[in-house]
Parts: sequence; structure tokens; C-alpha cells
Amino acid sequence: MRHRIAVVGGGPGGLTLARVLHRHGHPVTVLERDPAPDARPPGGTLDLHAGLGQLALDKAGLMAEFQELSRSEGQAMRILDTTGTVLRDWRPRPDDRANPEIDRGQLRDLLLGPLDVQWGRGVTQVVPGTGDGVRVHFTDGRQETFDLVVGADGAWSRVRPAVSPVTPHYTGVTTVETSLDDVDTRHPDLARLIGDGSVAVYGVNRSLVAQRNSGGHVKVYAKFRASLDWHTNLDTADAVAVRSSLLALFDGWAAPVLDLLHRGTVFVHRPLHILPVSHTWTHVPGVTLLGDAAHLMPPLGAGANLAMLEGAELAESIAAGPEDLDDAVRAFEERMWERAGRWAKITTAGLERLVSPDPAEALAFFDQVQPS
Ligand SMILES: Cc1cc2nc3c(=O)[nH]c(=O)nc-3n(C[C@H](O)[C@H](O)[C@H](O)COP(=O)(O)OP(=O)(O)OC[C@H]3O[C@@H](n4cnc5c(N)ncnc54)[C@H](O)[C@@H]3O)c2cc1C
Repeated sequence: MRHRIAVVGGGPGGLTLARVLHRHGHPVTVLERDPAPDARPPGGTLDLHAGLGQLALDKAGLMAEFQELSRSEGQAMRILDTTGTVLRDWRPRPDDRANPEIDRGQLRDLLLGPLDVQWGRGVTQVVPGTGDGVRVHFTDGRQETFDLVVGADGAWSRVRPAVSPVTPHYTGVTTVETSLDDVDTRHPDLARLIGDGSVAVYGVNRSLVAQRNSGGHVKVYAKFRASLDWHTNLDTADAVAVRSSLLALFDGWAAPVLDLLHRGTVFVHRPLHILPVSHTWTHVPGVTLLGDAAHLMPPLGAGANLAMLEGAELAESIAAGPEDLDDAVRAFEERMWERAGRWAKITTAGLERLVSPDPAEALAFFDQVQPS
């Protein structure tokens, strides 16, 4: 018997679930709020770990394409102090495939492949236990019913309320993001500063990180501790005002480092929210969550990896065809909770150390996760 399965959200987690189901010949409906794949900028680069995101791609049969697209050299990491002195300059061996980088847009297109995603289908609510299945309500007022609805709809999930009353809370750390294009030709000095991968500078309760994407595109992240309303007197759409308030915040840092902010033209404000570590819920037949919808955690290189592996594992257990779909989902949830709980602890502690009153903590954290 073929179950009617809906995946809400076409991010890394939802698309991996759909792609692995598709590989096993199982029909699946992907419901995505964005009107088209390129409706908004896809965001920065992702590093996919050998035992997590790469394992998921393997289960989707996409490892060869990933090897072609991903950037092994993008794993390079340089750490400076606020005077611009290089403290660490870690470079991967040419054959190091532990955490290669891939642009989000490239990953999305790779996963999309033959999938028939329903774009522009924002979900407003999911109601389990309707007799005929789980009812999905859409922004245009329409409704549809499925046997299983998987909420892969990210931090502010509309599926989550069907299983859990918990909502994300602010970490006390905010990010303002900017970017640079054609860095090798237009900003060769910054290209040298950044190297092949990322450069990070840690100060007291703040950090600046610049990370290469493909095609000479660089994302710059200013992170700092601040109240959620720190920008009340600032027009966040006014790039000049945001830039000067950031420069004031990073006052005294070396000029080449501050150039990362000086040369940015568009600034995007992203306060960091998380779900409680070890977020679980009482199982609800016909509905589950994965990825950020289930376990939003600080962005320290785990979220997309976990979402993808969860998607792949759930798809495989559905495709294995247990008589009772619910048994497969319950087993999936137990496994997800255990693994995500471990990573949530690591990344939450990591954020405390990377944006800390003592910058030496950030260096110690780096040495712990990236021994030379
Ligand atoms: C700056 C930054 C850097 C990061 N770097 C890394 C990294 O290197 N490695 C890593 O593993 N993780 C990284 N992460 C974390 C990673 O981005 C997330 O954990 C990951 O994107 C979660 O995937 P997801 O599929 O669960 O959700 P999302 O990527 O959030 O996708 C959710 C999808 O659901 C759609 N959607 C939302 N609401 C609805 C609705 N109501 N109806 C229909 N569709 C809806 C959205 O449009 C979106 O397409 C980073 C995060 C940030 C912010």
C-alpha cells in the first residue's frame, strides 16, 4: 500500500526526504511556500560532514555529483586576533573530504533533480486525527489530506504546533550579514585575507567571520551579544546607518579586518534563535518534524547535515515498507531526538565560547574541533 506523504518545506531536509523516497519509487508531495526555487537568495555555503550530510547524499545516490560540485579547499580556516595577527592557519590536505563546502543553491538544485515540487504552497496549519488522515491548510484557503505530514519547514514551522507547543527563543547573540562579489578581482586584498575558505576574528563578545562561496562570492557575518531590540533606533534597511553602527561596535579592530564591513553594501539582520536542547514531544500519529523545525540550534555547521540525514533515514524506513507507517515514524523520532540532542548541546556550548567575554575561549574551541 502506498501512503499519501506530504513534506512541508523544500529546504535541505525536506528535499533529501523527497529525493530518497523518489529513488525508492515512493510517491511524495513536496509543499514549498516560496513561489519558485530562485525566489530569494539561497544563503551562504554549507559544509557537509562525511558521516552526516554526505551520508544522506549517498543514500540519495548523489555522491558523484556532490564530489564534482563541492569545494574541498573551502574547509580552510584562518583565525586572527583583533590586531590582525594570524593565530591559526589551517588548510586541508587535497584529499581531505571530511567537510567540503557546497553553495546552498547548488545543493538545492542537486536535490531537486527530477522532483516535482509544488511551489507557492504555503501551509498555515496541520490538523491531525480528522478520520481520513491529517488535514493540511494552505494560505489560499484550500485543504488537502495525507497519511503522513512531515514538517521540514524550518525555524518558524507551521507544522510544529500540531505536535509541540514549544517555540524558539533568542540566544542573546545576533548576526548582521553582508556580502562581497568578485572578491578576487574587486577586492584582492580581502581575497588574500580570507584565503580559500574562511577567516574568523574573535573579540570580546563579538566576532567577524568571512566565508568564501563559489564564484568569488563572500559572505561576511558580524556576530555580537545584544538585546533583541538593539536596533530599535536604527533603520535596518539603511545600509549606511547599519554599517556605521557595526563599525562603532567593532571599533579598534585592525583596518584590514574592518574593510570586510566597510565594503559591504547590503546588510541583513538575523537574531539567532534556538529551540530548547533535547526538544521532544509525545508522538502524534500522522505528523512528524525534522531539521530546524524539530531542533533549531546555533548555526555551527550541523543543522543542514542533521536535517538531510534525518530526511534520508525517514525515507528509507518508509520505503522499507513496514505494515504500520506509524511504527517507522516512532522509531525515526527516537533516533533523531538522541542524535540531535547531542549536537544541540555541542553547538549551544560552542556559541557560548565563540561569542564570549574571553576570546581565548573561541581559539580553544577551534583547537578542540579542528586539531592540527
Ligand atoms: C549563517 C548560517 C550558516 C550555516 N551554516 C551551516 C553549515 O555550514 N552546515 C550546516 O549543516 N548547517 C548550517 N546552517 C544551518 C542550516 O542552514 C539549517 O540548519 C538548515 O537549513 C535546516 O534545514 P531544514 O531543511 O530543516 O530547514 P530550512 O533550510 O529552513 O528550510 C525550510 C523550508 O521550508 C519552507 N517553509 C517555511 N515555512 C513554510 C510553510 N509554512 N509552508 C511551506 N513551506 C514553508 C521554507 O521556505 C524553506 O524552503 C547555517 C545556518 C546559518 C544561518
